[in-house]
Amino acid sequence: MLFDLHCHTTASDGELSPGELLARAASQGVSHLAITDHDSVAAYGAIADPGGLTLIPGVEFSTTWGRLGVHVLGLNIDPHSPAIREGVMHQGNARRERAARIAERLEKYGLKDALAGACRIAGSDTPGRPHFARHMVASGFVRHEREAFKKYLGAGKPGDIRQHWASPEQVIAWIRGAGGTAVLAHPAKYGLTRNRLIALAETFKAWGGEGLEVVSGVQVPAVTRDLAALCQRLDLCATWGSDFHRPGQPWAELGRYSTPPEGVRPAWEHW
Ligand code: AMP
Ligand code: FE
Ligand code: FE
Ligand code: ZN
Repeated sequence: MLFDLHCHTTASDGELSPGELLARAASQGVSHLAITDHDSVAAYGAIADPGGLTLIPGVEFSTTWGRLGVHVLGLNIDPHSPAIREGVMHQGNARRERAARIAERLEKYGLKDALAGACRIAGSDTPGRPHFARHMVASGFVRHEREAFKKYLGAGKPGDIRQHWASPEQVIAWIRGAGGTAVLAHPAKYGLTRNRLIALAETFKAWGGEGLEVVSGVQVPAVTRDLAALCQRLDLCATWGSDFHRPGQPWAELGRYSTPPEGVRPAWEHW
């Protein structure tokens, strides 16, 4: 069995369609896959037959903890439930409003056609920052997406607008209301000190969160050890996944991630 419980399609900021993603996951040997698009479950509507793969419905909700942007995975959800419908509707509106504000800010810096350009690349009116980044590259405003994030879209930069998302309590309530497990996504990627990371995990549990994503793609062994210890200490379950967005990133390829730790309780044991 090879689980990959975190990846993205063109329904958010991934580059493969749901069908292309399934084919690639199968060819990578994945047996259990959760598609976890940012604030969207649209990919599940586009899949008629997952073939030999076991699909575990998922979503990655955006929220904030104080001033920090945080992602919460909802795994083993019912994507058609009223709770998830309400969640993706709310977050879609939030994303639309945020996109308009990001575009306003970027146009002040001289980017042309910011909102329409990002929407065109996203194929929707709910673009994310990666779609703005690609539009910036396509229009010659920056050299590459890395530069777009570094100068304009990354944490604390002009295009980083966070106050629109639902609260963590709310997104966890949507996930649990849909029968799912709420998992704190990639806890090591928020740039927190050890003490702040422990505080986040404790707070996440107090909000009703049940698990930590202890492995996100290829990561250093010390991170895996720390997150596994945090799981045990707080009696949280564990998940792992690639956070795949597109081919050509070997550190975030479908089904490829650092060895999961021993001694943790995988989330799927009680599904
Ligand atoms: P959004 O949902 O619009 O806030 O965009 C968040 C997504 O942007 C993340 O899931 C990543 O895929 C991508 N992202 C965030 N920070 C960076 C960065 N520094 N460089 C490249 N991509 C990033
Ligand atoms: Fe993403
Ligand atoms: Fe994320
Ligand atoms: Zn993700």
